[in-house]
Amino acid sequence: MSILTVTMNPSVDIAYQLPTFKLDDVNRVSNVNKSAGGKGLNVTRVLKEIDEDLTATGLVGGDLGNYIKSQLDQGAIHHDFYQIKGNTRNCIAILHEGMQTEILESGPTISDVEGEAFKNHFESLLKDAEVVSISGSTPSGLATDYYVELIMIANAKEVPVVLDTSGESLRQVLLSGHKPKVIKPNVDELSQLLGRELDKDLNLLKEALQDSLFNGVEWVIVSLGSEGAFAKHNDLYYKVDIPTIDIVNPVGSGDSTVAGIVSGITRNYDDVALLKHANVLGMLNAQEEITGHVNLNHYEALFNKIQVRGV
Ligand code: ATP
Repeated sequence: MSILTVTMNPSVDIAYQLPTFKLDDVNRVSNVNKSAGGKGLNVTRVLKEIDEDLTATGLVGGDLGNYIKSQLDQGAIHHDFYQIKGNTRNCIAILHEGMQTEILESGPTISDVEGEAFKNHFESLLKDAEVVSISGSTPSGLATDYYVELIMIANAKEVPVVLDTSGESLRQVLLSGHKPKVIKPNVDELSQLLGRELDKDLNLLKEALQDSLFNGVEWVIVSLGSEGAFAKHNDLYYKVDIPTIDIVNPVGSGDSTVAGIVSGITRNYDDVALLKHANVLGMLNAQEEITGHVNLNHYEALFNKIQVRGV
């Protein structure tokens, strides 16, 4: 049995490092980094690094889709994507003068036939899955309740789902009768969901997680960046306190945290161990340049400095 990760709108991410970014002019760049991107693929890479057995799935198409599969092959990551007619997208980040300017293609439009075919593909992959992790947005063409349908299929097979998405896709799931086992919003996503500004105030967070929108979701884990996390597991509430660390690039830390949550579930960790495991992985990602990468040499030292307290 293994973990199934789902990335419906992956990308080939291109990072250009420029000393200065000149508008309306030619910018030549020699420092170029290309990688397989998308939140689900970040989760996938971290799961591989912590030695979990997994299969990555989702939708890919065209030459960039092939590039993603070849990158996963190079990392010895098992994958089984559904091939679409459209072309997988590029996302470009221009790193200049301490700033990051991003150009994000919206990606291919998925046809109804492809959307239906992926559901069958997903269902067939569930026979070997112990946990499913679904991350990121749905591509255009798919209904905003597409994740509701994937969760319904997984729940029918009694395979729990960890969902990390935002906006309308998340709202649709929470309003539906088909609940994921875990969601991991950050504070901004939680504020957007509840339509009110939340900060890291613990009383406000606790009250927010009592909203009926979360009924039926076993775990709500709100990641708080440098302040750790606030979590609800059924009727229990926890604050995860983490030490201050030097960070290099926090992008993808949430995805790394999701990898820890999924892995903690497959390892049957208790609440405290699961929350520590998830936060250590988020922190380790923030200490690396590469998104979706962790250096496990520092795992134990950080793990021992994290405190989980009931609130
Ligand atoms: P992303 O969307 O970039 O993946 P996110 O907003 O979903 O990130 P965060 O809350 O920023 O997720 O980070 C997830 C976890 O990573 C945090 O709960 C924490 O454990 C760790 N982390 C992130 N940023 C920092 C930081 N600056 N210092 C220490 N730990 C951090």
